Amino acid sequence: MIRDVDITQIWDGRFYTASDLVKADTMDCRGCSDCCRTMTDTILLDPWDIRQMQQVTGMDFDALLEKHVSLTVADGLITPVMSMTPGGACTFLDGTGRCTIHGSRPGFCRLFPLGRYYDDSGEFRYFLQARECPKPKAKIRVSKWLGVEDLPRYEEYVRRWHAFLKQVQHLLEGESEKLRKQVCLYLVQLFYRRSWDGESSFYEQFEERLARARKDLSLR
Ligand code: SF4
Ligand code: SF4
Repeated sequence: MIRDVDITQIWDGRFYTASDLVKADTMDCRGCSDCCRTMTDTILLDPWDIRQMQQVTGMDFDALLEKHVSLTVADGLITPVMSMTPGGACTFLDGTGRCTIHGSRPGFCRLFPLGRYYDDSGEFRYFLQARECPKPKAKIRVSKWLGVEDLPRYEEYVRRWHAFLKQVQHLLEGESEKLRKQVCLYLVQLFYRRSWDGESSFYEQFEERLARARKDLSLR
């Protein structure tokens, strides 16, 4: 979700790249799971997240929707978001407060307490959300904190997905509710409901779907 806030009110005063050290290491959270109990309905999921979840649970998107994922509207587009239990916790949190999909957790969970700041060109840098997580933290390299395989490729995907969503939002400005809904459902079908092949490169599959969506929506 794009937050329209004054970054100087929430950061530690500097931007970071993947190779920088940042004081974000919560040291395995040491028994704390507050974030997994309070923030899940704000954890928006992108296609990479859904593919990770499909692989680790063996569930297709409709099965995930029944148990772990909901749909919400964010920045005018229908978007998957983590579901909560009646008590407000993430459905992947176990009874001891541990994440049962830690190795396949969504990008939002990997980032926190970092965030991404996008400039007008669509480029992003990381920043530390200085007011989040009151626990003591150690320095760690951003790339290690994220723990994503082939991080440069993942970062490129993040940029391209962000840019595409901005284009679609712009395209739908001022359009009828009916058309907005049609486009949203088309995107849900193409990027989420249609399963991702676990044997093939996610990024190649993503680029194919992106090219198709751009063509179908007449985007450059
Ligand atoms: S508040 Fe900090 S230590 Fe607790 S779960 Fe969140 S990130 Fe981990
Ligand atoms: S996926 Fe894991 S890390 Fe993320 S909110 Fe759920 S339990 Fe917490």
